[in-house]
Amino acid sequence: MSRFRACIDQFLGLGAGVDADSSSYHIQVVNLSYILTFAAFCILFIPSLQLANVFLTVFEILSLGFLLFGLYLNINQRQNYAALLFPIIVICNTSVKTIVFYGVESQLHWFLAVIGVYVYTAFSRDIRHWRLPFLSVSVAIFMLCYKYAGSSQVLMSPEQQIIVRNLTFIITLAAISGATALVVGRLRRANSDLRKLAELDELTGIANRRKVLADAVNIYADAVINMESCVYAIVDLDHFKKINDTYGHEAGDVVLKSVAAKMDETIRPGDKLGRYGGEEFVVIMPDTDIEHGLQEMDRLRQEVSDMLIETEMGVVVPVTLSVGLSAISLETNRYEEILAEADSALYSAKREGRNRVSAYTSF
Ligand code: GH3
Ligand code: MG
Ligand code: MG
Repeated sequence: MSRFRACIDQFLGLGAGVDADSSSYHIQVVNLSYILTFAAFCILFIPSLQLANVFLTVFEILSLGFLLFGLYLNINQRQNYAALLFPIIVICNTSVKTIVFYGVESQLHWFLAVIGVYVYTAFSRDIRHWRLPFLSVSVAIFMLCYKYAGSSQVLMSPEQQIIVRNLTFIITLAAISGATALVVGRLRRANSDLRKLAELDELTGIANRRKVLADAVNIYADAVINMESCVYAIVDLDHFKKINDTYGHEAGDVVLKSVAAKMDETIRPGDKLGRYGGEEFVVIMPDTDIEHGLQEMDRLRQEVSDMLIETEMGVVVPVTLSVGLSAISLETNRYEEILAEADSALYSAKREGRNRVSAYTSF
């Protein structure tokens, strides 16, 4: 299924360029509109053939040719022309066929309804001023069809008109659903990509401060509601400035990335890790008491101090970290208080010689 979707994405994305993202959906809607309408015109060609009218057949073939030409323009970087050509083809085709050949009872002119969805999804910023003119012309043509497509002079019989009417309904429904599904799907994907970007730390790829603090609030609220314990820990790399000074800032970045990745794989599945800023990280442990929090953080400290982080020059950088932690208590009113306590415990860990874990005590 995902392979099928990838194929469709690739096909609809033709002409969108290599740096296309899920928000470049205009081009994809235009491609989809041309393809669906080409299929629709082919289906409607069958009742046309029954009328055995040379002019109608030539007109249908010309319309199909223009659709292929529009698709060609869209794929070959003439996207604005392609986008504007599409409603012109649809308006000309449906109005001429309704007025001259099919009659208004065929309801073919209802296909003009796709133009409403089309101009709002396919027109990019540069050509959006064309929306209203196209909508107005569609409405005018729709009404003209009632005025000029009287049933007496048209070629189609009432039975054939019923077939066209049903086909028109199905085709219009498919075109509108297809365009809507495409646009909504792309926007949903773009939204989730943006959300992920807004929650990630650029350097380390773990959660950023905003995300981990949002987790901290949620875990605090859950702990209060369920009357459980929870532990917050602040992790700070020891003498990190010295690492930067000795091995260079880039080596410092490598250390930050490696330590973040190690911590991410070491914490338990329900725990939350994020970069608090600089060389500081936060670990939030739901449903955990202070003893287990201490054990977990000491395991983390041990894992990191056992790492052999190599710089690009092949030098191994020794790294240790200090951790301060605190648990929710009966006196806690806000989650920020636990963080402040963890910070003061971290200060004790640093003062006591670093490379250690220290829990907050109120005395
Ligand atoms: P302590 O053991 O007391 O924590 O000492 P420290 O040197 O780790 O702490 P200090 O706050 O003096 O220095 C932190 C350094 O972290 C200073 C800053 O340049 C560096 N730093 C912060 N963010 C980054 C980063 O993204 N990349 C690199 N390479 N260094 C960073
Ligand atoms: Mg620090
Ligand atoms: Mg530090």
